[in-house]
Amino acid sequence: MGPTRAETAPRPVTVLRVPESVPEPAPGAQARLDEIAAQVRACTLCPLHRTRTQGVPGTGPATAVVMAVGEAPGESEDREGKPFVGAAGRLLTQLLEEIGLSRQDIFITNVLKSRPPGNRDPLPEEVAACAPYLDAQIEVLQPRVILLLGRHALQRLLPGAGGITRSHGTVVRRGSRTYMPCYHPAAALYNGSLLAVLREDFRRLKLHLESVPATPVPAPPESIPPVPTSEQLGLF
Ligand code: URA
Repeated sequence: MGPTRAETAPRPVTVLRVPESVPEPAPGAQARLDEIAAQVRACTLCPLHRTRTQGVPGTGPATAVVMAVGEAPGESEDREGKPFVGAAGRLLTQLLEEIGLSRQDIFITNVLKSRPPGNRDPLPEEVAACAPYLDAQIEVLQPRVILLLGRHALQRLLPGAGGITRSHGTVVRRGSRTYMPCYHPAAALYNGSLLAVLREDFRRLKLHLESVPATPVPAPPESIPPVPTSEQLGLF
């Protein structure tokens, strides 16, 4: 198969320089992210630990002001231990670069940290078991905006906000958090007409970041919200 339209798109000319607004991580933030990552890798809270190759906690610096949340690791991610490294990940990287953001400056993770067999949809009990990890990552990072990639991230972090078709490309504020739902990059790989929609959503993300002044680095929470043990959850 030849290159897709996405792969041949022109390189961006505008550079957002988002990371420069928060040059230093909050004290202890990186250590807390590392600690959460270690907990994810050792996690046995749901049966997915039996079929996964490894847990995939997420990648990105503690200084990230943008967080992207996908659905779950796929085959490549399960093998490499990093999120969005397959075809959908390459498109995500490209969409970020087109708005002047480097993947290295974003914290990228998923609702589920372990691959569901055959890439099936996450089960509600798996989402519930994994929830404390994502919640803890958000708490540590305090991102300026959380990009919700697809309906599973949308349902997990903005329950009741409606479907992705209606909410994509909008800035949604709930509590102290700001979200932008958009289609999952994999959807654009299967349905080429969604690529233009996704590009427009990323353009809106860029406009949002440019319109909101950088906030000072927040004080980190005293401790990572505790991740319950499998005994406490009693899910399975
Ligand atoms: N799709 C996701 O939702 N997450 C990944 O990490 C890769 C593909």
